[in-house]
Amino acid sequence: MKDVTPSKTDDTDADDGCATCGAAIDASNRHPIAADFGADGEIRIRLFCSQACRDRWNAP
Ligand SMILES: [Zn+2]
Repeated sequence: MKDVTPSKTDDTDADDGCATCGAAIDASNRHPIAADFGADGEIRIRLFCSQACRDRWNAP
């Protein structure tokens, strides 16, 4: 897992909503994101509604 910097590309295949709690995310605001790799090695971008959810997702 790696932290990534939000970029201007909106070409992510992120699901709508927080990856931890599922809360809706307003794409016009900045939110914590993270990237990891699926079993096929494909990168996946996760969005989080808050830093707390970001931390929870990262926790063991
Ligand atoms: Zn959340």
